[in-house]
Amino acid sequence: MAAQAILILFLSFFGLKFIWEALLLVLNINYAKSNQTHIPPFAKKYITSEEYARSVEYTMTRNKFALLSDAFGAVFLIVLIISGFFGIVDNFLYSLNLGEYLQGLLFFLSIGLVFGIFSLPFSLYSQFVIEARFGFNKMTLLLFFLDRLKALIIGMIITAPLYYVLLWLLGVAGSWWWILAFGFYTLFQLFITIIYPTVIAPLFNKFAPLEEGALKQKIENLLKHVKYTSGGIFTMDGSKRSTHSNAYFTGIGKTKRIVLFDTLMNKLGEDEITTVLAHEIGHQKKKHVVKMLIISLAGVLAGFFIINLLLYYMPLYTAFGFSRISFHAILVLLGLCSGAFTFMFTPFFSLLSRRYEYQADRFAAEQVKKGAFFLKNALIGLSKDNLSNLTPHPLYSFYYYSHPTLAERIGALEKIKA
Ligand SMILES: [Zn+2]
Repeated sequence: MAAQAILILFLSFFGLKFIWEALLLVLNINYAKSNQTHIPPFAKKYITSEEYARSVEYTMTRNKFALLSDAFGAVFLIVLIISGFFGIVDNFLYSLNLGEYLQGLLFFLSIGLVFGIFSLPFSLYSQFVIEARFGFNKMTLLLFFLDRLKALIIGMIITAPLYYVLLWLLGVAGSWWWILAFGFYTLFQLFITIIYPTVIAPLFNKFAPLEEGALKQKIENLLKHVKYTSGGIFTMDGSKRSTHSNAYFTGIGKTKRIVLFDTLMNKLGEDEITTVLAHEIGHQKKKHVVKMLIISLAGVLAGFFIINLLLYYMPLYTAFGFSRISFHAILVLLGLCSGAFTFMFTPFFSLLSRRYEYQADRFAAEQVKKGAFFLKNALIGLSKDNLSNLTPHPLYSFYYYSHPTLAERIGALEKIKA
């Protein structure tokens, strides 16, 4: 009875989440369509009508595809739950008598593979049909599959020791195991963040120190001006996969690297790139990265608390098709199902993130000479190149957007200038 109630509760929340997110997509598609014939006033100076038409087309194509793949994904998950698929896999692995640890790892791998294979046609279509049609795709099929294989192997290499220690703590640390597990998880994540730029990222991309020249000089002047030490400025061959462009910081503390996509360097001028980096430094200086990390760790702590609370509650397992209690089952359940209960927090994170973006924009505008002007140029350039949606539905952007819309950012920059 309790199991049935749990399943109904989950399906209700899951259905609510699906309907709400589908509704947002439909609103967004219709909004783009209704604005199709007239360029929004703020953008008239910067964009041609052909460019605008292409961005609308791209937005609508991507949103329609998201609607379709979300629907298939939702049905797939529900079929797996109702058919008892998870329990069947779990029972099979249990029957092999491999011990709790190995059984858990193989369970993660099996579920990962099942979802990986399910999502494969969607990823292929997105990359090789949609992205290709709009001229963004630079990937070969070989590279696509190699990426997935590498990600799977790295994922297992990372999961294996993490899961080992968590399982061990559960066995030996008594009723406070989950606090210790959280502590270990935090340290482990820190360790991955430290090794990421030098060990993991190079498995996917080539990094080269930025060549001497005017751009490097400008960036170094900026770093000196804002008193920021970095572990080096690197360029990355992003063009190997896509023409979308970006710049980011990676690593932690003094070893933090600045990474510029080669695609960014081809598109923006030196002053624009420098100002984009000033924006990124603004995030660091204003401690946005640390604050976001603390928030996400609070979420992890809540996750461990909930696991501890429900770990030995059998109806939960029965509801999702399992016939025995296990640590690996509850971890997978949390990963697959918690979204149905946490999606209502999304707009709060989006709102916070957008506040940070405004602050970083302001930092760049203040620290770089004519910063507001260059940043505006950079944002417009990137928006045009990435065919960004210039007219997102207000509810859609309120709910999802981690960055203010182009209109909002330009508006804020112009206020700073004035
Ligand atoms: Zn930012």
